[in-house]
Amino acid sequence: MLFRSLRRRRLRRQSFPAEWTDFIEQHLSSWALLSADEQQTMRERVRFFIAERYWEGCAGLTVTDEMRVAIAANASLLVLARPEDEYDNVTTILVYPSGYFAPDQPPSVLGGTRLIAASPQAVLGQAHQNGPVILSWRHARFGTAHAGDGENVVLHEFAHKLDMLAGGVDGTPRMESREQAAEWATVMQRSLEELRAEIAAGVPTLIRRYGATNPAEFFAVTTELFFELPLPLRERHPDLYRVLRRYYRQDPAARELARPGLQARPEADSPQPLRDESPNGRS
Ligand SMILES: [Zn+2]
Repeated sequence: MLFRSLRRRRLRRQSFPAEWTDFIEQHLSSWALLSADEQQTMRERVRFFIAERYWEGCAGLTVTDEMRVAIAANASLLVLARPEDEYDNVTTILVYPSGYFAPDQPPSVLGGTRLIAASPQAVLGQAHQNGPVILSWRHARFGTAHAGDGENVVLHEFAHKLDMLAGGVDGTPRMESREQAAEWATVMQRSLEELRAEIAAGVPTLIRRYGATNPAEFFAVTTELFFELPLPLRERHPDLYRVLRRYYRQDPAARELARPGLQARPEADSPQPLRDESPNGRS
């Protein structure tokens, strides 16, 4: 801890590379909506996040500053207002060029997040209970550069890590009180049941099907929506939005409403869904 605080002090004295700010702008759609104070906090967190983790490229990939900044910025956005949850459980980040084939491991190792689809199938990302976060850069880049689809594998895997900080992988991250935990449990369980019922009835859903896998995936998938499509989520699932807002201590919908020209933006603005691009799986 002493070493870390000394290193942080040294990092604070250095100027933030202009190129890194460009990378954040490219990979964090809400960057321009953050206050000057929040942006300053984010720069600091991104810098610490990068310096304090071991980064490794896999399958011939060389990890670049753009990759590190894109991943660090999205992970840091989740804990922007939760400094106590700065991923002490993430020491290593492995980056693959694209989807990769994970060795079969028991669900406990993978955090209970195995895919339900037929295997073998490429995995886009994984968060191991006592191990690394693994990401496909191709999918991380797509997810972070296109907010309109509500899918972001970086937000997804780091939501799993927040879940794991509370012990286990059950879709319940750290709560501040019994009352908050009770509200969380009630709303998340009911919302998951509603999603499963809608899927069974063939009704189109805002929350994608993978969220119905289990409570942990439901939390990770709805976290992606909370930050990427906060207005539709708040409109369609106000209770769910409220408990996520309380947990993250952020209100991305209010931020979006302040976005200049929002009302003029056509709805059909979203890019092609990721799943049309490639065989798709994620944990
Ligand atoms: Zn997952």
